[in-house]
Amino acid sequence: MAKSYEGEAIGIDLGTTYSCVAVWQEQHFRVEIIHNDQGNRTTPSCVAFTNTQRLIGDAAKNHAAISPTNSVFDAKRLIGRRFSDPVIQNDLMFWPFKVIADTHDKPVIVVTYKGVEKHFSAVEISSMVLKKMHEIAETYLGSPIKNAVVTVPAYFNDSQRRATRDAGAIAGLNIMRIINEPTAAALAYGLGKRSNCVRGCNIFIFDLGGGTFDVSILTIKNNVFEVKATSGDTHLGGVDFDNRMVNHFVEELKLKKKVDISGNPKALRRLRTACERAKRTLSFAFDTTIEVDALFQGIDFCSSITRAKFEQLNMNYFIKCMETVEKCLIDAKMDKSSIHDVVLVGGSSRIPKVQQLLQDFFNGKTLCNNINPDEAVAYGAALQAAMLSGKSNFLQNLVLLDVTPLSLGISIKGDLMSILIPRNTTIPSKRKEYYYTTCDYQTRWLIEVYEGERIRASDNNLLGFFTLSGLTPALRGHKMVAYFDIDADGILNVFAMDETSGCKNEITINYNEGLLSTQEIKRMILEAEVYKDEDNQYLKKARAMNALDDYVYKMKSAINDVETSSKLKMQDKMKITSAIEKARNLVDGNSKPEIAVIEDYLKEVEVLINANHYN
Ligand code: ADP
Ligand code: MG
Repeated sequence: MAKSYEGEAIGIDLGTTYSCVAVWQEQHFRVEIIHNDQGNRTTPSCVAFTNTQRLIGDAAKNHAAISPTNSVFDAKRLIGRRFSDPVIQNDLMFWPFKVIADTHDKPVIVVTYKGVEKHFSAVEISSMVLKKMHEIAETYLGSPIKNAVVTVPAYFNDSQRRATRDAGAIAGLNIMRIINEPTAAALAYGLGKRSNCVRGCNIFIFDLGGGTFDVSILTIKNNVFEVKATSGDTHLGGVDFDNRMVNHFVEELKLKKKVDISGNPKALRRLRTACERAKRTLSFAFDTTIEVDALFQGIDFCSSITRAKFEQLNMNYFIKCMETVEKCLIDAKMDKSSIHDVVLVGGSSRIPKVQQLLQDFFNGKTLCNNINPDEAVAYGAALQAAMLSGKSNFLQNLVLLDVTPLSLGISIKGDLMSILIPRNTTIPSKRKEYYYTTCDYQTRWLIEVYEGERIRASDNNLLGFFTLSGLTPALRGHKMVAYFDIDADGILNVFAMDETSGCKNEITINYNEGLLSTQEIKRMILEAEVYKDEDNQYLKKARAMNALDDYVYKMKSAINDVETSSKLKMQDKMKITSAIEKARNLVDGNSKPEIAVIEDYLKEVEVLINANHYN
């Protein structure tokens, strides 16, 4: 039975490079993709910090060229990961902004905001992007919105999901559900096709975006969308293809111009922007040129690249994608011939070589590209939000069954992984398993919870650990029980007990402090409010400054206008001239006036203008 939610519910695709927000409109039986203040249907997942303000979205992306070290992107690649993670270490080379480790090996982004050094976690940066998407929706719908469904890559692990949920909480959203991106895309694709799937259709979703790669196999039967298997790579996408091209040109510069730009963030940023553009061009052209004026030490950079070269640079990535496709089919125990539709999602699925390899793999099958690869995920998230809010009659009967991407279990004697919930289990799911003490008179049981597919527990990812103490002292072989409970967001709770003594304990996974405590989240929510206030203050001040500037212009025109000027008394003229002078000082001068000062002065000028009737 669906819970009752107040107000509209939105779907947010929080992408690595672009985010998108959508809402279901019951009256029109369709999903509306909501455009942002720039009229764009997707918004860059970027946050920039300047000396005066914080920028999010298009403005932040534009700012990256001016101040690359203070413009943060790719936060999703950092979320829920440790700083020492080799993939993060590799990414560091390509990020112009600074990332350091805190004492718990958690990555911290360092920027200068209003002249002061500030530290942010990836969760905080993501929350800022979510907040922006939230505001875009509120502006469009004209009413406050509290509830949202947020998507994550299907292959996101427990900590990455929790971190995303935390980001939603910091952004002040009630996250109704975290759903997998390819599942959302399948909902979008399958909505209109259900009637053709009475006997069941198998669809393969291939989602290659900016930072992540996801594949899922779903079966649609009547109104039920059931995920059969999912696979992917949380660190593979368009950004990696850009990096390869950037590297290629960095080497070329070394060779041809004898300069090394690899230590210069501004030059790298500009080269990267040019490479990304070239990559897009190569999806429809066979070659393209790259031009960056005064790239480094006054050198104008100009070069060209062919599609074949681009493909060669990235071939191992493309092959890796196909291996993942194959693995997913094996997991689903399906043959490729039983797939009815292969659906392309994500900006990078536009790359011709990727499409060709995929088509060849599926024995020449025509790929479906009739859904918008940039919007399908948000579209599906909006459908899920409407389904959960229980307000849609049209979507009422739809059922979505998703799976967990990684096996979950505990470590037992000999560092073996004992799996309680195997990967690709339909969620939510509850499992119970008995374990036995390994020593005589053992009174404590250390439970280490892992996720992953390796036989040796310690080769997998440690989610957390806790101790069950107060066991009934007995000879070895005393029975204890562990319960695993994975919720509909794919997030795990673990509970253990000794049924004889009645002692019990449950895990609060704190991930070596890698995850946020409730207190930390509360602190960040408060801080987010402060930043929002600051943004608003800035806006207010900018508006007041503009209004004042406007008045100065009007007053100046009046003084310069012979007719009006001749009607003015000498005394008034002097008053106006000095008012202009004062206003100019406020607007252009170096003194940074408080808003109150500007607003007070605005009122004064208004009186002056009204008194002289020339506005
Ligand atoms: P995410 O969901 O990870 O943010 P998107 O699905 O929005 O990613 O895809 C963004 C990625 O797609 C970027 O890396 C972008 O460069 C790439 N992209 C967009 N259009 C094209 C194109 N025509 N050819 C190749 N890559 C493209
Ligand atoms: Mg995406």
